[in-house]
Amino acid sequence: ESVVNRIAAGEVIQRPVSAVKELVENSLDAHSTSINVVVKDGGLKLIQVSDDGHGIRPEDLPILCERHTTSKLSTYEDLQSIKTMGFRGEALASMTHVAHVTVTTITEGQLHGYRVSYRDGAMENQPKACAAVKGTQIMVENLFYNMIARRKTLQNSSDDYSKIVDLLSRFAIHYTNVGFSCRKHGATRPDVHSVATSSRLDSIKSVYGVSVARNLISIEVSDDDPSSSIFKMDGFMSNSNYMAKKTTMVLFINDRLVDCSALKRALEIVYAATLPKASKPFLYISIVLPPEHVDVNVHPTKREVSLLNQEIIIEKIQSTVELKLRNSNE
Ligand code: ADP
Ligand code: MG
Repeated sequence: ESVVNRIAAGEVIQRPVSAVKELVENSLDAHSTSINVVVKDGGLKLIQVSDDGHGIRPEDLPILCERHTTSKLSTYEDLQSIKTMGFRGEALASMTHVAHVTVTTITEGQLHGYRVSYRDGAMENQPKACAAVKGTQIMVENLFYNMIARRKTLQNSSDDYSKIVDLLSRFAIHYTNVGFSCRKHGATRPDVHSVATSSRLDSIKSVYGVSVARNLISIEVSDDDPSSSIFKMDGFMSNSNYMAKKTTMVLFINDRLVDCSALKRALEIVYAATLPKASKPFLYISIVLPPEHVDVNVHPTKREVSLLNQEIIIEKIQSTVELKLRNSNE
């Protein structure tokens, strides 16, 4: 097993939360309606993600640990209009280089599932038949066991766990037709819990709490707005009664969880100018625009995006938020 592989894998999976993000996105790509996450020791001991999606075909199991193995991309044109979140075929392979990975999965119409474990970038044994319920369960154990320095920098497990909770909270309020849970191993109560098919506001309530949900105003750029030819947007923003020291900005573009620091800054400025005494905002914003207008971050660890027409889009969202804020404050 080469050190080069391990170093490359450590770039893709930088912290436990990066592994969780990749696993959850795979579950979403597999059309799951229920995704449950269990974490032990901030993710260093165990990350377990169980879903009820379409499963992995048995013939694909031996190649999961090979880089650039993906079932989601066949041509260069596909790359231009990526609809699923995974497309690099790098995440699972990387995990098998820096952790012990066990996959249990069953596809539609099969009588039994398969289980197989990987370590050091290879299968440990042939897939074994086993009992399985619908979907896939992936266990990532002893993350960075072969990267002593990395493990040392990740000693604060509560910090990593809160990053994972934050991530799942974001997914939960966007994918309202998917039920999410996240809990510490051995805990009976989940720290994130959302039921599928609840309304957006209800899922915000169950994930971020009543005090957040009751201070929200809905926003949108409607279809009859001239800007809607470039992009569509809807979401929720906090009103003048909301109190927080830190901005929470949950941003999805074409159903991908991303960051856009320019947009975040622009909206913080609007809040500070309009409500000088109020707190930093809570914002949930979902933007839809032609896929070819989004610069998809090919580097897996970066969530930051840049958009075509970014300035127009930011200005429009800024003025929409400002108008709502003024109206609600009168
Ligand atoms: P990518 O998502 O970029 O294709 P990954 O390394 O994340 O690459 O996953 C490799 C492949 O494994 C996916 O393309 C998919 O076919 C399969 N896979 C991984 N996780 C799941 C899952 N939870 N359900 C169904 N298929 C999965
Ligand atoms: Mg993936």
